[in-house]
Amino acid sequence: MRTDTIAAIATALSDSGIGIIRVSGEEAVPIVHKVYRNKRNEDVLLEYRSHTIHYGFIIEKNGNLIDEVMVSVMKAPHSYTTEDTVEINCHGGALMMKKILMTVIEAGARLAEPGEFTKRAFLNGRMDLSRAEAVMDMIHAKNQFALRSSIKQLRGSVFVKIKELREKVLYEIAFIESALDDPEHISLDGYTEKLSDQVSYFARELKKLLDSADDGKMLKEGIRTVIVGKPNVGKSSLLNLLVGQDRAIVTDIAGTTRDTLEETVNLGDITLNIIDTAGIRNTEDVVEKIGVEKAKNISEEADLILYVMDSSIPLDENDENIVQMIKGKKTIILLNKSDLDEVVDKSSVDALFSNVCEKSCSVYELSQAQRDEQNNDNENICMIKISARKNDGLDLLVDLITKMFFHGHLSYDDEICITNSRHKEALLEALESIRQLQVSLENNMPEDFYSIDLMNAYASLGRIIGEEVGDDLVNEIFSKFCMGK
Ligand code: GDP
Repeated sequence: MRTDTIAAIATALSDSGIGIIRVSGEEAVPIVHKVYRNKRNEDVLLEYRSHTIHYGFIIEKNGNLIDEVMVSVMKAPHSYTTEDTVEINCHGGALMMKKILMTVIEAGARLAEPGEFTKRAFLNGRMDLSRAEAVMDMIHAKNQFALRSSIKQLRGSVFVKIKELREKVLYEIAFIESALDDPEHISLDGYTEKLSDQVSYFARELKKLLDSADDGKMLKEGIRTVIVGKPNVGKSSLLNLLVGQDRAIVTDIAGTTRDTLEETVNLGDITLNIIDTAGIRNTEDVVEKIGVEKAKNISEEADLILYVMDSSIPLDENDENIVQMIKGKKTIILLNKSDLDEVVDKSSVDALFSNVCEKSCSVYELSQAQRDEQNNDNENICMIKISARKNDGLDLLVDLITKMFFHGHLSYDDEICITNSRHKEALLEALESIRQLQVSLENNMPEDFYSIDLMNAYASLGRIIGEEVGDDLVNEIFSKFCMGK
């Protein structure tokens, strides 16, 4: 393992009040000692006790003063990396931070690679891989949910659960192996029933974690949302309202939204990645046609369709085409322009969907009066009345999305939520091995088969917390980190 001393700017490289240069490794203290003086111009850093912070100056080789700083000293093993660490708090200008970093490097440190501090924390055993990844997730969190779940993961929620499952798997492996080694003393009679129960338990637990990964991904990265509807129904107005600025052009001429626009919108704790598409209708306009085709393709990949209708104008065959296109997708109908006289209501929407869908499909309407009503988990087509012009009804939209996607609640306080796709893949592999084991059990295969499947599951789970991972993977994971972390 590398033990040289690394240094990097840990704060953003921009004008700011304070910047931090972090130095970690065996020589961290002697290196900073060379460039630091206290207010009496003494070189005393070597004498400082661990976990103390000191006022002083960083001095160039030629004795010139670079900056007035606070220096904190954290000695091994009680630091982020578990190595001796010194952090120099200087003034936050980009030039100043670079200058101090160069001075520290000239004094003997090496420029750290992205994520190298956290990689050292992992390699030195201070945190498992799932916790190290949580550090990065926290830095990149786009919304409250992502932030909360990364903090929980950093505190070990994923690690504890995976460790518990692995221990149980290991117990079964050990039992089978000992029985096979020493059949005179350890009997496998009746063991398969016991193992069956345990295997069902593993499958259930893994499935639960995997289910959480679907919610987790959408919460962390956003729900892929497409806004569809005929021209002039208010799609751009809705998008502008959600985004809070005039991103799309709104006009009264049908068909102004020709190309697609993409926006990330935070609605309370929910993040929507909204793709606004060309107004969908039969059109001879070539440019528009391209947009319409694109809209159809995008709708197929969407998690959620926001179908905007103008409630002041009757539905027509263009709406039938749209319904045909979005059939089977989770859809929220936004009956817009509720400030005008109503021509379209729930019964017209019901009729439209029943005409197009083979099976009768019901549209669930959420109104202000029913907001607290318990779940309608199974509904795929829901409807609310809004007025984009009057900014009326968006609160209902948040409620409805929460009901449709997150079982009516967004709190994961007691549950673990898998948000990392690498973890999800490992869980899928573990579940596959467990399913394999279920088949082996059903077919009364010899016991050493069980042991192989269990070992595979054990290894897959191990990858989540960083056991049984190769150098390549570790390097790849940490290379995605920021500098100085
Ligand atoms: P798009 O073609 O579907 O993107 O529709 P726009 O957002 O461009 O809106 C078309 C017209 O409808 C514009 O004049 C909007 O101001 C108007 N509009 C949008 N939402 C509402 C609403 O809730 N009430 C009323 N009365 N007019 C609206």
